Amino acid sequence: MTGTEMRQFPAQLEEIGHARRFAGGVVAGHPAADDVVLAVSELAANAVEHTAAGRHDSFEVRITHLADAVLVEVHDHGGAGAPRLGAAGSEATRGRGLFLVDHLSRGWGVTRRPDHTGVWCEIGCTCAAPVPAAA
Ligand SMILES: [Zn+2]
Repeated sequence: MTGTEMRQFPAQLEEIGHARRFAGGVVAGHPAADDVVLAVSELAANAVEHTAAGRHDSFEVRITHLADAVLVEVHDHGGAGAPRLGAAGSEATRGRGLFLVDHLSRGWGVTRRPDHTGVWCEIGCTCAAPVPAAA
């Protein structure tokens, strides 16, 4: 896997399985494949749950192999629980049930605008550093 693989899915419950299979195909053979697929599954479920129905009913999964991690991003058009304008990141994370993602990843975060939420996480790996460290 090189570069970024991305795909859009309708924001419906049955699409979580499709997102999961998409992720499984992207990271097939990767040592952290199981964790990546779990993270995608969790973030996709989150996106579907929080996408505002009737607006932009889709979410997008992006998977990028970094030098020492797999970056998973899921973007959707929903808010993060009760909308609260002007609230910062910590508000956005609450209510999104990201405990599993927190456990799986070495780092994660949320970017939020009124009509868009992106959640990313990085799952560390050592398999494909383009420039191997001397040490
Ligand atoms: Zn890797």
